[in-house]
Amino acid sequence: MDHKIKYNYKNLENEIALILEAKVSEDWRCNIWHVRGSERDLIIDTGLGLWPITKDIFQISERPVIALCTHSHHDHAGGLSQFETKAGHPAEKNIFANPTRQSTVANLIKPEHLIEKPYEAFDIEKWCMNPAPITNLVQEGDVIDLGNRYLKVLHFPGHSPGSIGLWEEKTGIMFTGDTLYDGVLYDHLYHSVPEIFKESLFRLREFPIDRIHAGHGSSFGKEKMNIIIDEYMSGKRSMLCPSQG
Ligand SMILES: [Zn+2]
Repeated sequence: MDHKIKYNYKNLENEIALILEAKVSEDWRCNIWHVRGSERDLIIDTGLGLWPITKDIFQISERPVIALCTHSHHDHAGGLSQFETKAGHPAEKNIFANPTRQSTVANLIKPEHLIEKPYEAFDIEKWCMNPAPITNLVQEGDVIDLGNRYLKVLHFPGHSPGSIGLWEEKTGIMFTGDTLYDGVLYDHLYHSVPEIFKESLFRLREFPIDRIHAGHGSSFGKEKMNIIIDEYMSGKRSMLCPSQG
């Protein structure tokens, strides 16, 4: 691989692409989704943002870009400050505007999570994402209009108070952020509330989902979603019950 490549870009079905930070370890980097519309594009989550990302996206798209973070954790919101139009939920607007290592849980990231540093003297154990004041507050029921496609904002609190998902009814695609992915779910953070998290997971079951594009790891269908939720409810896949994970 060319050592200069900082992002991998992979086109998927339905005019959606997955962008990954090439220099962040697989177990830490988040999925950055590029949803292309006829009038606007949507970027869902922005990675750590240790390298310039907007230039690459603007080379691909000639349309205006809205960047939306599913929540304010450092691995999802670190790159948000690079974008002009920044969308997020009101419950975390103060964290986006005044991030700290503690509030963005950046105190969890370790040097081994970086395959390469952005520059030699860079110290991930002191790093904090740049402030990214939200320009477009979005909440439950709001619709993001990309021209020929519409994504509905769903409030999924629990992992964090302002976690959101995005639902595209036309394709049956749900973007879940850290509310649901194929792995052990983080329900143990300082502002996580496991009981509320469970309610958000129950709510996911109500949707006629064809495909989940999650905040980390691979995409999957409804059957797999139900297995993950069942396993979480039984105590597996919970950071609070690590022995069973
Ligand atoms: Zn998170």
